[in-house]
Amino acid sequence: MRVISKPNISPIRTYVRCYSSFIAATKINFRNITRFIGTSSTDYDQKAHNKNLYTFSIHTHVQGSISKDDMVKLYNNKMVRHHTGRKIYDKLLSLAPLSRCPFCGVGTVTTLDHYLPEAKFPTFSVLPYNLVASCKDCNTGKLASYATTQNTQTLHPYYDNFTTEQWLFARVLQTSPVSIEFYVNPPTTWSQVDKDRVQSHFDNYKLDTRFSVEASNVLADLREGFILFHSSPMDIQQELHKEFMKYQSRYKNSWETALFQALYQSQWYCNRGCRL
Ligand SMILES: [Zn+2]
Repeated sequence: MRVISKPNISPIRTYVRCYSSFIAATKINFRNITRFIGTSSTDYDQKAHNKNLYTFSIHTHVQGSISKDDMVKLYNNKMVRHHTGRKIYDKLLSLAPLSRCPFCGVGTVTTLDHYLPEAKFPTFSVLPYNLVASCKDCNTGKLASYATTQNTQTLHPYYDNFTTEQWLFARVLQTSPVSIEFYVNPPTTWSQVDKDRVQSHFDNYKLDTRFSVEASNVLADLREGFILFHSSPMDIQQELHKEFMKYQSRYKNSWETALFQALYQSQWYCNRGCRL
């Protein structure tokens, strides 16, 4: 999970820019709900700040007139594929540092994810605050799922900062070859809502499985090196600790930080598990 600064892009100007290239008759229908789009955008921003996006009701029409399908077309045809809206699309994509997916921290950004899915919440189909750069796995894994309670809301990269304290950890499993299990353990001082939300995020994006795959590649490389250089357990522990410090200084909750922390803290791994 990584934080991205909320885009400084006007919701109304984005909406108007997207519908402006429709033919006149269609344009009028979209224009008629512009004020509603504006107030809904403000409402979204406030609810997101207060961790209450789950209180929006699913709907099939925007202000009773524009259908979900029309709003999906607005996004697909005028934001993704048309040059006027595409500039905003590309701008939003570029907000993810190093093109790393903010939801998982593993994948490369290739698309925009509707935090509130457009199939259920078409009012927000082209709202910049609702469009977050994402990797394909996070985007397709989530599909049209959405939270109906405060505690089950996944983390929103524009509004939720859960990066200052460590909540992601890993443990070494004494198997041959060694395997790693990732888990969530938030600080005890957090509210129950925050604790539940990071767990929901971890579960919904299947981060345990995805991190374990990444970790297994690193473990295989480490094993080759440790066999080749006959390092002592103390040297191994120091090397792993150095890696842990390096990753921790960048991201407290990256899978690499949790992995190297678990490895250097495991006497079993440093003594013999690293070569199995
Ligand atoms: Zn991702």
